[in-house]
This record gives sequence, structure tokens and C-alpha cells, in this order.
Amino acid sequence: MRAVAPYVPGEQPDPARRVIKLNTNENPYPPSPHVLDAIMRAADAGIRLYPDPEARALRERAAAVYGVPAAGILVGNGSDELLALLVRALVDPGDRVAYPVPTYSLYDTLVAVQGAEPVHVPFPEDFSLPPALADARARLTIVCNPNSPSGTLISTGRIQELARAVRGVLVVDEAYVDFARENAMGLVGRVANVIVLRTLSKSFSLAGMRVGLAFGDPELIAGLRTVKDSYNVGRLAQVTAEAALRDLPAMRANVERICRTRARLVSGLTALGFAVPPSEANFVLARRPGVDLGPLARALAGREILVRHFGALPDALRITVGTDEEIETLLAALRDLTGS
Ligand code: PMP
Repeated sequence: MRAVAPYVPGEQPDPARRVIKLNTNENPYPPSPHVLDAIMRAADAGIRLYPDPEARALRERAAAVYGVPAAGILVGNGSDELLALLVRALVDPGDRVAYPVPTYSLYDTLVAVQGAEPVHVPFPEDFSLPPALADARARLTIVCNPNSPSGTLISTGRIQELARAVRGVLVVDEAYVDFARENAMGLVGRVANVIVLRTLSKSFSLAGMRVGLAFGDPELIAGLRTVKDSYNVGRLAQVTAEAALRDLPAMRANVERICRTRARLVSGLTALGFAVPPSEANFVLARRPGVDLGPLARALAGREILVRHFGALPDALRITVGTDEEIETLLAALRDLTGS
């Protein structure tokens, strides 16, 4: 493990510190009040008992919402756990795991831990699907869609073509897809090698609860279930997620607000001279081609505004879409710091 580069999560500052936190793509708005009620009601002596290892009530709810049979759904401790299960279940040491880059760097860590071989297929300049991905002869292919950190979306038609072209399993990591105009859920059940991952962490404002969902062919899902810990998702997390899936209008209202703020953020950044790829997520990538933006990220942190700067993409900042007020403060700080 000494040779494995661990995943480096974005900074989670002490909650007592008043920062504008635009670095880990959390939702700036609270979850539905029904969700908080459900948590209070569930916080009782029942906590002495283990949770339902199959998360049946939550899976039934997810089945009704997403139109996928419960047998084709697995609940994880965040979609991060589901990604780890997929790699453990499907990939042997030495196998190839392919994905377009730059993308979510946890994939690299999971592949390295498994002793597998990462196949990095560079995105073209416009972040469209790189044709070479289909030819990578990988056991597992992962497409983060919308992609992080670019925010860009690959059309469902293209994802479907890719699913038919790859030999192994195609995982579509749709952590941010509620902020996008289309998604690949319709492929589940129609194309047997597709797994779609969702999370309650972003659009549903529940990052602290750790709930993710995998959707796919029941046989593949059964294989993942064999690998998971029995009690991988706690009682409160199951209840919370079920309640969240009962109040989709609350989630959609927050998503709409965030998408309106995203448009303001993009026009503000563009006016400041940043290049911003079209985002279908709750964050945007602001670029100054050829300029290291590390110092700018640090200067923003000095003003208690946290954004993400990646070593692999030095001329860019990934900025979460916060509230209108947070975004106005950020833009004012950028105007000041860049002398625009
Ligand atoms: N996929 C992507 C692309 C992400 O950015 C994240 C959040 N860091 C996740 C999956 C994991 O989300 P969670 O474990 O909170 O469900």
C-alpha cells in the first residue's frame, strides 16, 4: 500500500469556521423538511438493532422512483462504496480498468489498491467521449457523467454506443446527473453490462448521511451484494434516503435554484476572462489556459473561500455552485484578486 497514492478529499474545515465552502460539491440548501422529520422519528431505541442488510424499504422506494426492479438495485455507504465494490467484484489483479481523464481521481486509487492496470484515455479539448475508450479492452470501463472536474455531459446516445462496444462492464457514475438534461437510467435493464451509480449526496443535500445507489442487471447486482458488508448502510441513513426519495419536488426545487445560480456564475467567470466548459453539474471548471491557478486558489482560501485546485489540472479551479450570495462574494473576490 506504500506505493498507492491515496485519494485526497477536499478540505472539510471545522464547522465553527465561517467559510464559503465551494470545494466539494455539496448542496448549499438543506434537504426536504420531511427528511429531517423522518430522522427525528427514527432516532429511537431501535438503534440497538442492526439495520436491514438488504435495505428493502429503500430499494422498493428507489424501484418506484427510477423504474428499475428492486432486484437490480444495491444500496451503498455513498456511491464511493459502490465504486469500491465494483472494482473488488469485477477486477482481478492485472486487469485493465479504463476511463477518460481528467476525472474523479478516486478511480485511480481503487484500481491501484486492487493491483489492476488503469487505462487513462485523455478527453479531447471539448471533453467529448474519446473514441479510443471503446478499444481499451478493459474488464471495467468507467464514465463519470457529468464528468468531474469538467462538468461536461456525454449524451445518452453516445453512452449507449459505448456500452455496446466495450467487452466488459460499463459503469456510468451519475453522481451529478440531476443537474443535467439527460441520464442513462433508461439503459438499465436494456443493456445488460451497464451499471448506473447515483448518490444522495449532491442533489438531495445528504452528503453527511452517505447513501449511494447502484442500478443494473439483477445478476450483476447479486454479485456485488456478495462482496458488500452485511450492514453497510446504517438505519438512519436508510430511513433518511427513503424519505428523500418521497419528496422529489424538494430536491428538484433546489436543483433549479442551483442551475439558475450556475448560469450567473458562468457569466461572471466568463466576464472575468475565464474559459468555462459547458457545465451540467453543480460545479463549474474555470480555466486560464497555461496559467497556474494554485496561487489564486490559495489567495481565495486566505479570504475564507474554498475552491478546488488539482495538481493534474493546474490552470483550472473547480468551483461548486453555492447560493447566489456566496457566488457574488466569490466573483467580487476574483475581480479584486485578478485586478479585472
Ligand atoms: N462520483 C463522483 C464523480 C463524485 O464526485 C463523488 C463525490 N466526491 C462520488 C462519486 C461519491 O459520492 P458519495 O460517496 O458521496 O455518494
